[in-house]
Order: sequence, then C-alpha cells, then structure tokens
Amino acid sequence: MPDWVTHIAVAWIICRLLSFKYDEFNAANTMLVITGALIPDFSKFILVFKFFGLDLSEYLSIIHIPTGSVIVAGMMSMLFPEKKKAFLFFGLGIITHYSLDIILEHVSGGIYLLFPFSWWQWQLQITNSSDYLITLLALCLAGLVYLVGREIDANKGTA
Ligand SMILES: [Zn+2]
Repeated sequence: MPDWVTHIAVAWIICRLLSFKYDEFNAANTMLVITGALIPDFSKFILVFKFFGLDLSEYLSIIHIPTGSVIVAGMMSMLFPEKKKAFLFFGLGIITHYSLDIILEHVSGGIYLLFPFSWWQWQLQITNSSDYLITLLALCLAGLVYLVGREIDANKGTA
C-alpha cells in the first residue's frame, strides 16, 4: 500500500536528518521509529481477519487512534531491555504517522486524534491517500537525504 511506503520513507528521512546531529538515531533505533510509524496501521489487520471470516474491527480499529497506538507501543517496548528508550522511539514514529495521516486520509472521515476526550474527526483535506504524488515526493526526498547523508559520512571519514 502506498501509504505504508510514505510512512516508512518519512520516518526514515526524519531519523536520518536527526542522525547527523544525534548518535542515538542509529540503524537499530531508526528501525524502532519506522516500526512505530506503522503501529497505527496494524489496525489494517482487520482486513486479513475479515478475509478469514473474523470481524475484529471493533477491537482493532482502536489501534488507529493515538491512545490505542501508544498502548500498543507501550506493550511492545516491554520486549526491549531499554524500555523507556524503545517507547520514545516508537512514540516518535507514531507522531510521524498521525502528522502524515492528518494530511493524507479523509476517505474514512478523519482521525479521532483526541479520543477519548473528543469525538472530533481531524483532517486537513489537503490530499487523499490515493494521491501517489505524496508517496513520490516522500521517496524523492528520501533519495536526496540519502545522497546528502552519504556525502556527509564520506567527509566525516576524511576529516
Ligand atoms: Zn494511518
């Protein structure tokens, strides 16, 4: 799905940019951020279960709500030796996901960003998720950041 590509690309771009300044954003932690960026879309497993005749939409759709994503991130970070750190990296990923979704998705009627405090569905309606231009833009940006990063790393080696 194109929005997964966009989510991964944007999470990676942010980590790569931060890695120029902060050593914490190494490959392993970047993977955590990327995983975090995909957590809200774990709710798409609804479709997989539906295929097998199980309707879990009532249970799983809560994952695509910030509160639900944060709970999932919390459970997942229990698996790591540095739980707090893992949680923060997952959290950063989740933030990138919703920042993008607020631009991308309005097919489903926006996001319950402040649930359970508000039922307001947030969306900016700038574009929709079938707009491949956003994916393309994210990939081009990722390519650019990749090249710049390689240049910077090469200079670091010789300096
Ligand atoms: Zn989403």
